[in-house]
Amino acid sequence: MRVYNFSAGPSMLPLEVLEKVQKNLVDYEGTGTSVMEMSHRSKPYDKINDDAHTLLRELMHIPDNYSIIFVQGGASMQFEAVPLNLAHSSSCAKGDYIVTGNFSGKAYKEAKKYGDMVEVASSKDKNFTYIPKTSAESFRSDADYVHICYNNTIFGTRYDDVPDTGAIPLVADMSSCILSQEVDVSKFGVIYAGAQKNIAPAGVTIVIVRNDLLGQESPLCPTMMKWAVQVENKSLYNTPPTFSTYVASEVFAHLKSIGGVKTIQKINEEKAKMLYDFIDQSSFYKNPVEKQYRSLMNVPFTTPTQELDASFVAEASKQGLISLKGHRLVGGMRASIYNAMPVEGVKKLIEFMGKFELENK
Ligand SMILES: *Cc1c(COP(=O)(O)O)cnc(C)c1O
Repeated sequence: MRVYNFSAGPSMLPLEVLEKVQKNLVDYEGTGTSVMEMSHRSKPYDKINDDAHTLLRELMHIPDNYSIIFVQGGASMQFEAVPLNLAHSSSCAKGDYIVTGNFSGKAYKEAKKYGDMVEVASSKDKNFTYIPKTSAESFRSDADYVHICYNNTIFGTRYDDVPDTGAIPLVADMSSCILSQEVDVSKFGVIYAGAQKNIAPAGVTIVIVRNDLLGQESPLCPTMMKWAVQVENKSLYNTPPTFSTYVASEVFAHLKSIGGVKTIQKINEEKAKMLYDFIDQSSFYKNPVEKQYRSLMNVPFTTPTQELDASFVAEASKQGLISLKGHRLVGGMRASIYNAMPVEGVKKLIEFMGKFELENK
């Protein structure tokens, strides 16, 4: 039996995609071989790779002056790739960071090894329950880039608007929100995202980069991390994560078939609204995030006590609602309701929450 999996990542994939992949697992479209066994230099893989790039461009309306790459290493490797690629060819990049949670904190920490990094704003004073306000004047005028995390997976916040950084390229970690809502790519210099939240199994990472920012690496930058090298080689510089790229292309095709990002955004807003409305009308459950900045994807919540939280997670799991335990930094529960979580799954969760409240109030 399939359960509703609220894991923050790796997370659910659309059932239609899993079934299609299963059908093609042993013999991919009559090639007599699985994608896992296929040379990344073969014709069929070339098509998979091209499809993945083309479909993502279409879904996100990525302008022509941006390149897309599919690489290994996770979003975490990009924490270092960002300062190493955006160094204006010096060995000392200048980056301004807005720290809104765990991952942006990690990105900042890694970047500090490669240059002159400044934490320009942070929401740590209120345990990352909001997004700090900034303006173009908040940043150093000679910064190479400004780095943000668009959706904070652990703390359940998101930007409600793209911050203004003037002429300084904006770099955004979108690991936990890519393709969940429409974004204007032209407002960003670089967008990157690990696939295992909204796109594919773990293994592939997506980087979208404005072409004028390519080729300015620090001399320290490892070849494998150079975006320009990956762009020149159409993401085939070395052996790419072929299977996750293949599943990504199937997820993209599926998303396109249901109406694209606009459609899934409506569904995501509906799911998030149902859950937040339920939490807000209850005196039993609480979500700590300032309403304006509530994430569409990750919803942390608590019951009145830690004992009840633990019992909630255990009982929910028995009902086929799994992986609801909150991150250790926040406690309580967290429901990650990514693109592939059906509306029905959120309804089931709310139904369970209602029952649990009545039994434990
Ligand atoms: C999951 C996550 C990461 C870490 O991704 P890896 O692919 O495991 O390196 C980074 N940033 C955000 C926002 C995430 O949600």
